[in-house]
Order: sequence, then structure tokens, then C-alpha cells
Amino acid sequence: MANSSTLSLWDQTAAEPDLVSPMTADVVTDVAVVGGGFTGLSTALHAAGNGLDVCVLEARQIGYGGSGRNVGLVNAGLWLPPQDVRAHFGEERGARLVEVLGEGPNYVMSLIEKYQIRCELTRTGTIHAAHSPGGFRDLTRRAEEWRRLGAPVSLLSREATREKIGSSAFYGGLLDSRAGTINPMGYVRGLARVAKSAGARIHTGVSVTKLARQGEEWLLETAGGTVIAKSVVLATNAYTDDLWPGLQNSFVPINYFQVATVPLGQRVASILAERQGMWDTGTVMFSLRRDAADRLIIGSMGSVIGGAKGLSERWAARQLKRLFPELGPVDFEKSWHGQIAMTADHIPRIHRLAEGLYTPIGYNGRGIAPGTIFGKAVADLLAGGDEADLPLPVTGVKQEAMRSLKAGFYQTAFTANQVLKSI
Ligand SMILES: Cc1cc2nc3c(=O)[nH]c(=O)nc-3n(C[C@H](O)[C@H](O)[C@H](O)COP(=O)(O)OP(=O)(O)OC[C@H]3O[C@@H](n4cnc5c(N)ncnc54)[C@H](O)[C@@H]3O)c2cc1C
Repeated sequence: MANSSTLSLWDQTAAEPDLVSPMTADVVTDVAVVGGGFTGLSTALHAAGNGLDVCVLEARQIGYGGSGRNVGLVNAGLWLPPQDVRAHFGEERGARLVEVLGEGPNYVMSLIEKYQIRCELTRTGTIHAAHSPGGFRDLTRRAEEWRRLGAPVSLLSREATREKIGSSAFYGGLLDSRAGTINPMGYVRGLARVAKSAGARIHTGVSVTKLARQGEEWLLETAGGTVIAKSVVLATNAYTDDLWPGLQNSFVPINYFQVATVPLGQRVASILAERQGMWDTGTVMFSLRRDAADRLIIGSMGSVIGGAKGLSERWAARQLKRLFPELGPVDFEKSWHGQIAMTADHIPRIHRLAEGLYTPIGYNGRGIAPGTIFGKAVADLLAGGDEADLPLPVTGVKQEAMRSLKAGFYQTAFTANQVLKSI
């Protein structure tokens, strides 16, 4: 049933219950985590597992940010191909990051299985589909490098891609068998459940309004009370506010929207028949997947424009018709969007903002596995680990030049794209 008060389809359909827990007393803890998404809750789960006392403070609800709104593609690696990641970081550091994030989906899936997180996990891979011959050349280069590294990826011919996706719109594809799909709200709520069972305190509806050094510790102020912590992890990614001066300006926020049909049953049996999720190589990319109830969920860069029967639904109807001419008209149930934190080089960061204050940030729209992995890495660091063991070299904050101008430019370009492609 459509519900306009929910954040996303996933908020409506996740089997894991929402964890609601207001803050009613002051807290003294080892680690304060700001933000209840994948990064914050993975930090909390692993910090508690490392024997640390930990308290998560989430301004709204668990999964309010990107974690409860995304496409649910649990992908390996970063946006950039492995060879570009190595070129960026140098051979040793780059190779380590590629390896850690190559294992990312496996780690996410192992958590889901270990803790029986109810999030509609599929393990049949994801497909990066070529929208043009140039896109296919890019996929070929990616496939060659991943295969050289021993990853189970295969380059799909045009015909094989048609069979897997059920559409003849693509020039070929790259199937990554390490990957899979989830109901992301189910996963993030499940992380909250298991972090709490491991001993983490989790408070929702608690916005941190001030963060200041107090002697050797950190003081966090909220309307529900104060938190004194030895260390703090800001896990706010694209939803970062002005809590830490300048952090908001370290990335460009862009929107990504999705539109979900009603359950379509047998009508979609031949579309993504093995239930891979997919996205394409277009500059303004789009994504498509099925959920466990056989809804089709299609999305692209930009915001939802218009409500029911508005521009975004027309865009979705037009795209589904282009991809699957045989499908016929479909009804839509839900549309939503969320914010992505984009960095100029498409690489995330782990910043040390001050002594004992860290933030993994800038996932560029790929944060399910990286957020989980970086959260664990920061939790290990705070339990006495070494910064050199983090997956990324620790950096200071660099301001993104002309951030507002760039954000405005992208928003206009994505809106124009949606208008043009809905005709
Ligand atoms: C539409 C969309 C599609 C995407 N698709 C994919 C995908 O298919 N695969 C993939 O891997 N990644 C995808 N991503 C990226 C992924 O969702 C994010 O990288 C990931 O969710 C980031 O998790 P996080 O925990 O770091 O931050 P978030 O989940 O954004 O959580 C940040 C939280 O911080 C809270 N917060 C902010 N300020 C404060 C404060 N002052 N006090 C307390 N709390 C605060 C917010 O309320 C929010 O809940 C997508 C993102 C979007 C938006």
C-alpha cells in the first residue's frame, strides 16, 4: 500500500522493525557515533564487539539517509576501475584498497547470514550494462583487470545481456558474481538490531547540535542530553550538516531518484530473471532491479519531480517501455530520492578531523559495502589499531571548489535529462 509518509519503498517493505529509542539521560562512553546508517551502525557493531562502550546518535530514524533510500546493489570495489584506484593511491595502498573492497560484498553477506538480517538478500551478482559501444569498451577494460586479479566477473555479449536483463537495449554487460542485492532498509535496521544486542546504545530522533573538545574528551550536545566520549565518529556522509565547520563543503551533494511499480507477478518473469540488479554506463546513469515482491524499481540521477502521475512517473513509464516494449502499461506505487556525496575524484575519504575524531565520507553512491567495511576499520582503529591499517590513507578536509554552483548545475542537468527522457 502506498504511503506518502515513508522515506522509500524500503521503509514500507523492510521486514526488520524500526528501532525507535529516544535519549533521556546524559551518557559517558568510549565512542560516540553520529549517524545511524551503514557506516555508523557498522562502527557501533564492531566497536562493541571490540569491547568498547559505544553510543549512536541519529537525528531522525535509522536509515534516514542514503542507507534507507538507495538502490540496494551490493557491489564490489569503487566507481573507478581497479587500475585507476591503484594509479590514484600508488601500487601498494591502491592494491590493498581494491582487495578489501573486492571482498566487501562477501563481508556484507556474511554479516547478513550470521545475524539472520531480513533484507531480501540475493547473491546472483549485479550487471553493469553498456548503453553504447564506448560503454562496452569501458566494461571490457574493467573485466580484464578484475579477471587478472582473479575476481569472478564475466563479460556478457549483447545476446547474453539480452537474456539476463530481458531487454535488447544494451551492447553487452559485465556480470560481477561477487555482488548481490538487498532491501537496504532491512540491512541497516538489522545492523541496528545486532549492534544493540552487542551492547551499543542507540538513540534516534537525537540531533547532535554541538561538538567540542573538553579536556581529553569530546562533548556532544543534543536536546535529549549530553554525551561525553573519548572518540567520535561522524557517520553522516551526504547528510552532513554544519556540526563540524567545513565538512559539508568537502563534497558535492547530488540527488538520485527511484520509482517503484506495484508488484507485477508473472508479467516480469523474464526481466532480470535471475534477480541481478543492474545499472548502465550512461553519463546520467539509470538503475533497474526487482524486489522480492516482483516490483520493478527504476531510478536515475536527480530528484522526484511531481507526485503521483508527475514527471518522474512519466520518465519511469517511458524508460520501461523503451527497455521492455512487451511489458505494457504499469502502475506505480512509490517514488523517492536521496542524497549522494560526490567527490571530485570519485574516491571516498577517511578524514581525521581532530584528535580522536574521524569521518568516513564521500561514497559517491557506492556505500553499502564500503560503509560497512570503513565502519569496521574505524572501530578497529579506536580499539587500539593503527591508522596505517585503515583501507584509505587518513586525510584532512579539502574544500570542494564552487560546491553550490556545481550542485545547482547537476540538479539542472538532471532535471533537463528527466524532462527529455519522459517525452
Ligand atoms: C538514491 C541512492 C542510491 C544509492 N544506491 C546505492 C547502491 O545501489 N549501492 C551502494 O553501495 N550505495 C548506494 N548508494 C550510496 C549509499 O546509500 C550511501 O553511500 C550510504 O548509505 C552511506 O551510509 P552512511 O551510513 O555513511 O550515511 P547515511 O546512511 O546517509 O546516514 C547518515 C545519517 O546521519 C544522520 N545525521 C546527519 N547529521 C546528524 C546530526 N547532526 N546528528 C545526528 N545525526 C545526524 C542523518 O539523519 C542520516 O541518517 C546510494 C545512495 C542514494 C542516495
